Amino acid sequence: MAVRDNHPEPLPAIAGGEPVRETYLPYARQWIEEDDIEAVARVMRGDWLTTGPTLAEFEKQFAARVGARYAVAFSSGTAALHAACFAAGVGRGDEVITSPITFVASASCALYLGAKPVFADIDPRTYNIDPVEIEKKITPQTKAIIPVHFTGQPCDLDAIHALAEKHNLVVIEDACHALGAEYKGQPIGCLSDMTVFSFHPVKHITTGEGGMVTTNSGELYQWLLLFRNHGITRDRELMVEDQGPWYYEMLDVGFNYRLTDIQAALGLSQLRKLDRFLERRREIARTYNEAFASLPEVEIPYQAPYSRSSWHLYVLVLKLEHLKFDRRQVFEALRAENIGVNVHYLPVYRHPYYRWLGDPDSCSLSGFYCFHAEELYERIITLPLYPAMDNEDVNDVIQAVRRVISWARK
Ligand SMILES: *Cc1c(COP(=O)(O)O)cnc(C)c1O
Repeated sequence: MAVRDNHPEPLPAIAGGEPVRETYLPYARQWIEEDDIEAVARVMRGDWLTTGPTLAEFEKQFAARVGARYAVAFSSGTAALHAACFAAGVGRGDEVITSPITFVASASCALYLGAKPVFADIDPRTYNIDPVEIEKKITPQTKAIIPVHFTGQPCDLDAIHALAEKHNLVVIEDACHALGAEYKGQPIGCLSDMTVFSFHPVKHITTGEGGMVTTNSGELYQWLLLFRNHGITRDRELMVEDQGPWYYEMLDVGFNYRLTDIQAALGLSQLRKLDRFLERRREIARTYNEAFASLPEVEIPYQAPYSRSSWHLYVLVLKLEHLKFDRRQVFEALRAENIGVNVHYLPVYRHPYYRWLGDPDSCSLSGFYCFHAEELYERIITLPLYPAMDNEDVNDVIQAVRRVISWARK
């Protein structure tokens, strides 16, 4: 509050001032260094471009990093979600419960298999799916729960596992934001039936495109392998017969969802840097928290005592009652400062496809409507956060937020 009286902020760019910075600062991006490029080049000079030893090594080291028995790499996080649903036995007529505040892929994976996504509202403090709301949505058709660790903060997993046990459901964590996060001191990746990660360039480590499923179950592991490779196996234990050394069998309808060794080389090289990346993300989040805690017009991200976030996203919540402008105007003012703010996410069921799915005639949202998700969506802005940001970038974001909020306050 002292900020208001003692240090009047300069006019923001949207009101005719100079922008905080000249160049556009994206909300997220990869960090590729020379040794990453070298690692990729080494594989390209070798014998195996796909499904070779580098892929196997990436899976092995990734599994070890998250404390899981098995890891299976896929061509994207979305392919990994699809495979996890398949391995869970999700099929036509089943229901899969997930959060509305997520990327569309957390729900599309159910649609791919002819199942119905069902949205359970979020906890208004953590913005993660609320176990109490999950229980309300469980029916005899429910097959799986896909909790999403939004922004990298783990969901209330003990409560979710208790529900899963009681109702015999499979838990597939969407940990695409949460590589390196911890729940009650344990790494995300070894706590549920399956856990899904993404290696898109905005995520913690990248392979260009790529994803991973981790599991402790040997049986789920077999289904994941099968699905990634056309439903084909050469494993004699699984085959119906064995006609000779050339012989393989297709046991189900699978896809080509393989990750190349070229990508795995990049993944392995990036994985070695994960601790450094996490450290820097946490440091930036702390700096933001310290800068914004005293601004009465915004809420900094609440962190539950059981979670240690991996800070994929930093989401600032506007207290609109203290502002004379809405989220859109604040957003546009920050963009005018060359700060690449974003919004994560529109509640998934608000996309036109779901409106048509919900009720083709009236486009009604009644079946899906989640009060807290709606409330949150109106007020959120994602600030830039990635390890390659330097201190000046971080400072530009803080200056821009202070300037814009000062202009927007009532
Ligand atoms: C990125 C992301 C995905 C999809 O991952 P891709 O690798 O882009 O296919 C799924 N769920 C969430 C929550 C994500 O952030």
